[in-house]
Amino acid sequence: MRNTLIRAAVVALAVGAAGAQAGNPIDRIREADIKRDLFALASDAMHGREAGTIDEMTASAWVAERAREAGLQPAGDNGTYFQFFPLERMRVSAGSAVTLNGKALQMGRDVLPDALVVADVDAAVVAAPGDSVDGLELKDRALLVRYAPAQPITQDAGPRTVAALRTWARGIQRAAAPLGAVAVIAIVPDDQVDQWNRVAIALPRGSYGLDPDGTGSPLRATRGAPLLYVKASALGGAIDPGARVVARITADTFTYPSVNVVAKVPGRDPRLKDEYVLFSAHQDHDGVRFPVAGDDIWNGADDNATTAVALLAIGRAISAQPGRRSALFVWHGAEERGLMGSRWYVKHPTVPLTSIVACLNGDMMGRNDPGTAALLGALPPHRNSPELVQIALDANKAVSQFTIDSSWDDPQHREGWYYRSDHLPYARAGVPALFFTTLLHADYHTPFDNPDRIDTGKLTRMTRWMYATGRALAEADGRPAVDPAFKLERCRDSTGNYCGG
Ligand SMILES: [Zn+2]
Repeated sequence: MRNTLIRAAVVALAVGAAGAQAGNPIDRIREADIKRDLFALASDAMHGREAGTIDEMTASAWVAERAREAGLQPAGDNGTYFQFFPLERMRVSAGSAVTLNGKALQMGRDVLPDALVVADVDAAVVAAPGDSVDGLELKDRALLVRYAPAQPITQDAGPRTVAALRTWARGIQRAAAPLGAVAVIAIVPDDQVDQWNRVAIALPRGSYGLDPDGTGSPLRATRGAPLLYVKASALGGAIDPGARVVARITADTFTYPSVNVVAKVPGRDPRLKDEYVLFSAHQDHDGVRFPVAGDDIWNGADDNATTAVALLAIGRAISAQPGRRSALFVWHGAEERGLMGSRWYVKHPTVPLTSIVACLNGDMMGRNDPGTAALLGALPPHRNSPELVQIALDANKAVSQFTIDSSWDDPQHREGWYYRSDHLPYARAGVPALFFTTLLHADYHTPFDNPDRIDTGKLTRMTRWMYATGRALAEADGRPAVDPAFKLERCRDSTGNYCGG
């Protein structure tokens, strides 16, 4: 009880106590500023801010410039706002060559590999009469099938649905593999543009890896029997009896930079200013992909321009009146490619990791019911600091009054949402960590995650909640303890699948 009273007093003091002269800094967190920044960062001009493209760099430079305007100091490498890090990339080489029935096919235009499989094939082609491989002699031969969807496939399959073409072709590949087929060639009618585009998005991207220690083995492509999609018109006619396919598919590996944007507001207490409250977001999203209803820019307004601009607003409030502890801001790059920026930062922190008293991460903070929000990391087994959780709950009571939806913090929840944002590497590294979010919605990872669908009033209240939590942490005499029993292990059922999946 006594603890509770002290805690409540700390929050009240931190949140309510205005510097008499300057007004309460929380009032500097304004919806109009947040809205202006949101519409800029999530605009079409940013092209969806995809890691591994120049667009992420453009967005990151924009964030750094706005952070500077907000009064934040650089805290990245070499006195800058930036911490660059290498993404390892591997993709099908543009020099890969496929010749079918004597016709040379152009990679990406005429032919698409389903996955990155290195292969060297020179084989006779066996055309299947339908979708079945029954009775076909496929040993050391290439199977050719024609895609003929039973009913017209429309885009109402949804942007996140696996392409029907791919589902169909992989099914045939699974049937052909035991028969010894060395390749599967799927002929795709030219009018199946949407299906083609859904498969094509992987080709220029390839797969991504991160090697934070510099000790991992490099990405290596597997060798196998490729599944190739070939555009019907590229064949220029029927396949001759006795036709052959010659496919030499190689992989390119290279590194491409991504970047964390790192800034700070030094604390005012000479003793505590070497400790940091970390505010965390990611600025990247999914870039330009296949169009849905004519829109091919996946703007990522909620995911995660919302928190990226929230951090700017929090920065304006804190720089107006610094806390006793310092505030650290990290906009992580390449989150969508596998939490790359946060995994890198935890291995290469620009302040000692032990000096970070808490990681307050936000991801998707502007959708769904205006009165409800979620705080992940608030319940076992995700909770690594009960004290931190209590501070955040008190701050919610003081400034935002959200009803907290705890159901997504349940280890049995099918989304495994706790495991899907940038607080995770910090929690694993022993930093008290929380994840502020307003959860998933139908526009998640689609071209419809646009700024005009964001509830900026709600986002402003989420921003104030993060700020008030951080303010209380910055002003308190002590720092939140880590639960020594904390052990993170994503729940799996007896078959090895994630719980609830
Ligand atoms: Zn996100």
